[in-house]
Amino acid sequence: MSDPPLPADEFSADQFRLLADNVPALIACYDATTRRCLFANKQYARTFGCDERSIVGRTFAEVIGEAAAREIAPQVDHVLDQREAVMYERQVVAPDGSPHWLEVNLLPHLSADGTPQSCFVLISDITKHRLAERAVRESEERLAKFMQASAEGIVFHKDGLVTDANQPILDLIGSTLPEILGRHVLSFIAPEHVARVLAVMSAGQETTYELAILHKDGSPIPVEFIVRTMLRNGERIRMTIVRDMRDRHAAQARIHHLAHHDLLTGLPNRGAFMERLDQLMAAARDNEGHLALLFVDLDHFKRVNDSLGHLVGDTLLKTVAARITECLRASDLVARFGGDEFMVLLPIAQQREDAEEVAHKLLRAIAAPLEVEGQSISVSPSIGIAFFPDHGDDPATLIKHADTAMYVAKSRGRANCQFFESSMASVAYEALLLEVQLGHALERGEFELLYQPIVRASDGICVGLEALIRWHHPERGLLGPDDFVPVAEQRRLMQRIGRWTMRQALRSARTWQALRPDGGALPVAVNLSSLEFHASDFVDSVADLLLSEGVPGHWLELELTEHVLMDDIAAVKDTLRQLRRLGVRVAIDDFGTGQSSLSHLRELAVDKIKIDRSFVTGLPTDAGALAIARAVVQLAHGLKLEVTAEGVETEAQRHTLCAMHCDELQGYLISRPLSAVALAAWLGERAQA
Ligand code: C2E
Ligand code: CA
Ligand code: CA
Repeated sequence: MSDPPLPADEFSADQFRLLADNVPALIACYDATTRRCLFANKQYARTFGCDERSIVGRTFAEVIGEAAAREIAPQVDHVLDQREAVMYERQVVAPDGSPHWLEVNLLPHLSADGTPQSCFVLISDITKHRLAERAVRESEERLAKFMQASAEGIVFHKDGLVTDANQPILDLIGSTLPEILGRHVLSFIAPEHVARVLAVMSAGQETTYELAILHKDGSPIPVEFIVRTMLRNGERIRMTIVRDMRDRHAAQARIHHLAHHDLLTGLPNRGAFMERLDQLMAAARDNEGHLALLFVDLDHFKRVNDSLGHLVGDTLLKTVAARITECLRASDLVARFGGDEFMVLLPIAQQREDAEEVAHKLLRAIAAPLEVEGQSISVSPSIGIAFFPDHGDDPATLIKHADTAMYVAKSRGRANCQFFESSMASVAYEALLLEVQLGHALERGEFELLYQPIVRASDGICVGLEALIRWHHPERGLLGPDDFVPVAEQRRLMQRIGRWTMRQALRSARTWQALRPDGGALPVAVNLSSLEFHASDFVDSVADLLLSEGVPGHWLELELTEHVLMDDIAAVKDTLRQLRRLGVRVAIDDFGTGQSSLSHLRELAVDKIKIDRSFVTGLPTDAGALAIARAVVQLAHGLKLEVTAEGVETEAQRHTLCAMHCDELQGYLISRPLSAVALAAWLGERAQA
């Protein structure tokens, strides 16, 4: 024993015991021959229900139980026979039922001649490790399953180098796992997005963003990245979920296209055009450029649609769209604005000729005959042209002026183009526009009749109604007759409108008769314009209407102004006589404002005079109005005519008129003009009162 003494030799038994009792392990020593316990630390003894003193001298089997002893006997034999250490694991169930893993080390203690003296047992509880390992394994399994099941690509990388990827991402980029493992992720990113990806990576951001990755063949694929940092096997790695955005982008592009294009012709629609117009005007403003706006409207397109059907109409529109496009350059803008309206915007050098040339090209191209379903059809366009900045500095004004010029083109025989001129502004244009819209108002059912009650002055009983026309204009709202009757008269539209009014009034007349409380007649008065009254077939048409609506003549009253009556006296007299034969009553409207000859008045077959509102308004204070009103009442009574005062608004006016023995009153004091529904309610209330 020449070796220097080990430091442990100075170790006292107490120190050893302290150490043994405090290591996190179970320690024991058994005699090799008797297999009785020579030593055990506290934990070991406790584990087997003893204490460190009482355990000494017990046999192995006594300590750990017969069954366990049998089970590990081979290990013990091996240690003692082979004289080498053995390590094995045992799983035991703790008293609380939880599983525990034990790592057992058996060490032989040999004498100088190599005979086994004793056997050391060293047991460590490795449950914690086992559980942690299991958790890792399970989480790996979960992750693997998740990666497999995910329809979205998943890539892991550490410091930018790919460590794992699932099948969807491999499919997306057309590669295999071995091909991409270990490669830097940036090599899969489209160049324009590399900086962004790098920034996100180096900041360790957890974020979601869109970018493009590269397919193996180099083509970009739009994707969404959802990036997270996570721990895997103790390493901080990055997980990227890669979502293929091609379908969504295609859908978005489709939606964008639908929102900006006209379905039928594929041209940009009004919204898209307005957007571009705004931009192009701003650009032109910046570099002092000039633009021409062409408003192209097809002539009589409705006729084609109505007579040949919508399919032919659609084909025609598609053809026109294609023809317009063919006439234009790439820098020009075209759009379908609505039904048969197209807009063309041309960037032009300063001269008008440019625009005119294109307009004439369009006129020729559009008007060329077209074969549809074996028929040859053609439509011409009317084109209005306005220039930026001369005719308008904002889109609305420019469009309005091109529109005006287009209407002028229509009024000048169609199939031509007109440049906007300031003289075309407002009034004439408004009339033109109104004319076109009025033309459609009847078929679109935009007219309505209101009825204003006329009452007997003496007792307030409703004895008549005046029909007053209203137009529900699609853009301008409710219009009164003053807003459109003059245009309708000028444009010879009043006859058709007048006939509708009369038919409507006669139809409603039956309802009103039933609602007069005292059972008397309740005639409906209809206003006539000069043209209607002087039409050669006027009386016939009234007779026809009475017949077809099954209404007696005296339920209808016609209101004519002095002006109408004094025109062509002979003919008027004749017409009035014929009307009287039909039983139709006639009233002179707005009396006092014209210069009717009193002598003629005597010869006319009229039934009633209506004192114009302008005189009634002055009552009772205006001496002149008072004198005229009184004279009219007396004159009328002298001629055995009834008198109605219109525009009665105050009690004082009513009182004055009653004192004059005016027969009937009409005005806001009694009632405003009412819709048919409101009038029925009004008459109903009166009947009850
Ligand atoms: P009008 O024949 O003198 O009709 C009376 C007008 O005076 C109506 O205006 C009525 O709403 C309004 N009025 C009634 N009571 C009062 C009142 O107390 N105060 C005031 N300030 N006004 C009152 P509206 O409906 O605007 O009609 C205007 C004119 O248009 C009518 O004058 C008539 O000449 C013409 N008109 C109305 N309907 C037709 C129609 O169907 N055909 C034709 N040809 N002309 C019509
Ligand atoms: Ca009237
Ligand atoms: Ca009147």
